[in-house]
Amino acid sequence: MNKIFGHLYKEVIKPGLCTGCGACIASCQFNALNLASCEPKLVGKCEDCNLCYYECPQTGDSAKLVEYVSGQASPDPDIGVYGKAFSVKTKDPKIRKKCQDGGAVTSMLTWLLKKDFIDGAVVTGFEGESWKPKPKVALTPDEITQCAGTKYTPSPILLGLRDAVDLYLKKRVAIVGTPCQINAVRRMQFGDRAFHHLADSVKLVIGLFCMESFYYEKLKNFVKRKLKIPIENVSKFDIKKGNFVVYSKQGSKREVDVKALKNCVNTSCSVCLDFACELADISVGAVGSPLGRSTVLVRTKVGAEAFKVARNNPKLGVKSLNSVKPGIGLVKRLSRRKKNSAKKLLKRWGKYGKPIPHWMKEKSES
Ligand SMILES: Cc1cc2nc3c(=O)[nH]c(=O)nc-3n(C[C@H](O)[C@H](O)[C@H](O)COP(=O)(O)OP(=O)(O)OC[C@H]3O[C@@H](n4cnc5c(N)ncnc54)[C@H](O)[C@@H]3O)c2cc1C
Ligand code: SF4
Ligand code: SF4
Ligand code: SF4
Repeated sequence: MNKIFGHLYKEVIKPGLCTGCGACIASCQFNALNLASCEPKLVGKCEDCNLCYYECPQTGDSAKLVEYVSGQASPDPDIGVYGKAFSVKTKDPKIRKKCQDGGAVTSMLTWLLKKDFIDGAVVTGFEGESWKPKPKVALTPDEITQCAGTKYTPSPILLGLRDAVDLYLKKRVAIVGTPCQINAVRRMQFGDRAFHHLADSVKLVIGLFCMESFYYEKLKNFVKRKLKIPIENVSKFDIKKGNFVVYSKQGSKREVDVKALKNCVNTSCSVCLDFACELADISVGAVGSPLGRSTVLVRTKVGAEAFKVARNNPKLGVKSLNSVKPGIGLVKRLSRRKKNSAKKLLKRWGKYGKPIPHWMKEKSES
């Protein structure tokens, strides 16, 4: 039986497992779906084509996708397939001012655009001063740099990909996202119901390490009520050494144990098995490198080609990850911890009769 939006609603959206990636909306050729309060909603007539269900990262196992991406069936059990690992820091003052860690993502993208390796990038900025994530199609290095920095709430990046293809007619796009978002990109490329109309224009997939993200409204209220900072006054959010850190535009810094935000965490994150973005061409995160640098894992052939071009950027300082502390061991440990905790919770959900998709049940038993 083919499944349609009704099944997506029942299996993913209603139980709170939607990651807000936008893949279902972007793949609906009948414009029947829209994003309402960060969740997809039926706003037109569903023509039962079933694409939305099968592009969703929450409706199937990713084991087959791993094979397609890496061409290798036995990845590292903790962090997936990778070839080389680096620790990277930009020396470009404009990027340093805006970036989250070492500015690896922004530096790579700006250089790849200058060298015509890509013809555009789907990145995430925000609406006005609100910190509400908004996917953007960046066509110049300045537009890419404007979107540097982490927004800890979900961004519907697949809507950005739709704009890059349908509005800007781009053919060699780089796309940046968290593991759940990148899973949707890979489903469009290699899934059982691949959506070539968008996927064929993706040239490079850059994934971010991700432990969790927060519901936008809950985060906004937390920052205002507990930390006494209106979200419009925030200049940067960060999570370092177990603390959630908020920098204000006035120069103050407030930090709390990240556990204090447990009620703000997206439900889907507590059962998410991917920390290191195992399906990306290149994964980037803070963990593994010293403060102010980014860890870069090069995973695929196209990832290696892109990094070979990007590291020629004279403003990019590149070291082997082996030469810095804490190194790859910490990435593996955190990733293992995330997988184990998600599996435990899935088991508990199953025991208490909470409806969870079949493939997730199987994962919790493996
Ligand atoms: C929700 C979330 C949770 C994360 N958790 C961890 C973690 O636990 N451990 C860890 O080591 N790293 C984590 N990261 C990654 C980390 O915060 C940095 O993004 C990463 O180290 C790259 O830093 P950079 O300086 O190289 O990137 P920059 O040069 O600053 O570029 C960051 C890029 O990320 C994109 N981006 C920002 N927010 C989002 C978003 N919500 N969705 C999609 N794209 C986005 C921007 O458009 C930009 O292109 C997380 C990122 C996100 C978005
Ligand atoms: S028309 Fe197809 S893609 Fe659109 S909502 Fe219906 S099943 Fe989903
Ligand atoms: S996870 Fe993505 S594809 Fe699935 S329902 Fe949510 S927005 Fe749609
Ligand atoms: S923890 Fe998983 S589900 Fe949550 S934002 Fe990160 S990748 Fe997506």
